[in-house]
Amino acid sequence: MLLWLQLLLQLPLPSIAEDLTFPPVPPYHSNAMIIVLFGKPGAGKGTQAPLLAKELDVPTLATGDVLRAALRAGTKLGLEAKSYMDRGDLVPDSVILGIVAEELGQPQYAKGVILDGVVRTVPQAEGLDRMLKSMGRKLDAVLAFDIDNEEIVRRLEGRTVCERCQTPYTGRAVGSVCEKCGGALMRRKDDDPEAVRTRLRVYEEQTAPVMDWYQRAGAKIAVVDAVGAVDDITRRALEALRA
Ligand code: AMP
Repeated sequence: MLLWLQLLLQLPLPSIAEDLTFPPVPPYHSNAMIIVLFGKPGAGKGTQAPLLAKELDVPTLATGDVLRAALRAGTKLGLEAKSYMDRGDLVPDSVILGIVAEELGQPQYAKGVILDGVVRTVPQAEGLDRMLKSMGRKLDAVLAFDIDNEEIVRRLEGRTVCERCQTPYTGRAVGSVCEKCGGALMRRKDDDPEAVRTRLRVYEEQTAPVMDWYQRAGAKIAVVDAVGAVDDITRRALEALRA
């Protein structure tokens, strides 16, 4: 598996797939949906992902959740990612693409996937594209969350997340009980003002150009106004995806 990943991620685009043997892939459903949620940190991707997943009947994959779980478990991946995450920087593309490749090979994603928090750089967009092609799958849409920086800062200042299931909350105190799993709510270290400033800068420099890449690649881009009540945003997102 590791060798396959290395080969997949490092080979240039034209030579891939000709001489390589890929691992067996699950029998994908013909109507499997693959959607990338795209937007600034705090735009509401993590809130909307499970709601959209329920409506569309596909699982979510959140790279931030995978990394935080690795961190809690004290694995090599977690330790490698920690310093980047704490200061609000991006974890290297090779690590992220490794996680996505590993996960998308799992049977639960035969139905499709809602990718939350990936794609965040152009190399990740290219890597995901190669990966999906090699699996005989394709991206159905990029759902872009539209929101301005002032609203982001306001939201992240008041955000707590469940330490166990990662559900985000706005305006709920640290130590309150998670409605979903009973875990305690905590502040994310990267929601501190300094880290938020870094994350917004990193978004402008490295993530915003991904949208141009998808536009040039001819991907379906659905834009949703990400300010308002949670249910309204879900409804608008579904409408945008179906348009
Ligand atoms: P998130 O929960 O999506 O806000 O991610 C939290 C942190 O995990 C980010 O600030 C990054 O340090 C790291 N991370 C998650 N996804 C990615 C990604 N696709 N590329 C690089 N870093 C990521």
